[in-house]
Amino acid sequence: MSADNARQEVCFFGAGASPGIARGKIHVVRDELDDVPRYRIAPSQIADEIGRFEAALIQTRMQILKMQQRIAESIGAKDAAIFDAHLLVVEDRTLIDEVLRKLETDLWNVEWVFQEVATRYAATLSKIDDPYLRERALDIQDVCKRVIRNLQGKAPRAFLALTEPHILVAHNLTPSDTASMNKKHVLGIATDLGSRTSHAAIMARSLNIPAIVGLHDITAKLETGQYVLLDGIDGVLIVNPTAETLAKYAEIESKRAKVVAQLKELRETTSTTRDGRHIVLSANIELPEDVEAVFANGAEGIGLYRTEFLYLNRNTLPTEEEQYETYRQVAERVRPHPLIIRTFDLGGDKLAAGTVDMTDELNPFLGWRAIRFCLENIDIFKTQLSAILRASTVGNVKIMFPMISGLDELRRAIEVLAECKEELRKAEIDIADKIEVGAMIEIPSAAISANVLAREVDFFSIGTNDLIQYALAVDRVNEKIAHLYEPTHPAVVRLLKMIADAAHANNIWVGVCGEMAGDIALTPLLLGLGMDELSTSAMLVPRVKRAVQSLAIPECRELVEETLKLDTPSEILARCLELADKHYGDLLG
Ligand code: PEP
Ligand code: MG
Repeated sequence: MSADNARQEVCFFGAGASPGIARGKIHVVRDELDDVPRYRIAPSQIADEIGRFEAALIQTRMQILKMQQRIAESIGAKDAAIFDAHLLVVEDRTLIDEVLRKLETDLWNVEWVFQEVATRYAATLSKIDDPYLRERALDIQDVCKRVIRNLQGKAPRAFLALTEPHILVAHNLTPSDTASMNKKHVLGIATDLGSRTSHAAIMARSLNIPAIVGLHDITAKLETGQYVLLDGIDGVLIVNPTAETLAKYAEIESKRAKVVAQLKELRETTSTTRDGRHIVLSANIELPEDVEAVFANGAEGIGLYRTEFLYLNRNTLPTEEEQYETYRQVAERVRPHPLIIRTFDLGGDKLAAGTVDMTDELNPFLGWRAIRFCLENIDIFKTQLSAILRASTVGNVKIMFPMISGLDELRRAIEVLAECKEELRKAEIDIADKIEVGAMIEIPSAAISANVLAREVDFFSIGTNDLIQYALAVDRVNEKIAHLYEPTHPAVVRLLKMIADAAHANNIWVGVCGEMAGDIALTPLLLGLGMDELSTSAMLVPRVKRAVQSLAIPECRELVEETLKLDTPSEILARCLELADKHYGDLLG
């Protein structure tokens, strides 16, 4: 934004990812280079800083060589040669000597010095009228990011250390970044990338931090210190809001607060339809401390505990004892209601960089993720299963496996669970007599063969976040194609029907734990399809409860019959909205 219009109100539109309104000054983080910590060092620390620098250069060199080798094998030697220029950067004496000199004269930490020198060097090259040298400038920037990432090692990102309240405007956030945030300081989040079903967005909802994702290039347009109003419901970021806008939002907020207060009164009521059908309404959690919000919002238990968050932001794997303690405490607080523990689903957009090496996959969402990783790392898998089994004695614990794609995989997971049970029994360690085991149905192949899988388990939980991305081939975290991510696509509705019918034909229950379960526009569709359980972010539970209480099953079934005759996502959505609007239009606005 130019200085002329710096004071003008400007609106930016993205996708509302976590409801709520935040106001405050922004802190902009464009990428790693924008997030480099700066601190003074004593002359006696120079040698250590040089040591860190050398180690980071060696590590960077190894990473580039590894990447080069992989590209050479998969694509060809010609493309791999691009990385020769990157290798030259880590060996560039002018650059390295300048860093060493400035370390001695300036006495700042080495990542700060390196960043300064490399940025200046790249800027000089990019100004020279020579295509080769301009390319070199890009290489330097690329390698610079890598060196800084290596220098920082597993250190938390610098913005996490900010202590003033701010609205974070970032290019991208990982689920681990979001999980480490302090609500007292981070008033709101706005990102260039991401979508509603990215795990960073899911985490923001759990933490109750208003968020907007998919703002494309917002970090390039704003500067740290600007004042904004962030509307996480409609996905609008308003820079320099006028007094009029602030007043309008104050009014909107007070209306929303009234609706929230009315919904709070439903806390003790059950989620039963007008015609008396009870739908189990549970909540999803990522961290043990989320349990409080589960009951504050009137959920009946936990339908999805995303245990992989226990593996993030650390340097060692969680031990069986640590996991047992965590699961036991959660189970104790949730009993007698069910606690469905999903075995860890690392991979995709959730990487535990410090403990499990899954990096540098070309297609992480189609890669070494969840049960696929577990079945090849049986020791890590068994450690978790044993911890869950031990915790099963204190509550109503159920286990489910993520990313099941077919029968062999499911049977193998159940077999490993049986081995763990046997080992615990032999060691005379108590476990519950009966523990329900479920499969997440989130891959189209599992949906299509649901009738086969249903015979092996006690329940199905449908992970619509993934099911939709795989069925429609739409990356769930890519904001560029977010408009193609359509839960009411006729293909998705048919898959959901297949899964629900297969479950009921085999006398097992079926629930939905993806974000679709929290979208009240779609509650009529899910009830009509026969879902027995809905599990969603705790903050959305009261709205879903009101929706369930307002509907009757026959009208929902009729809706499904009609939608199966419709050909487009928008027609199906319009029909769902019609029924939702008839019964709880006040909640839809
Ligand atoms: C899903 O895929 O819908 C799901 C609930 O699991 P996750 O979002 O953690 O992948
Ligand atoms: Mg999933």
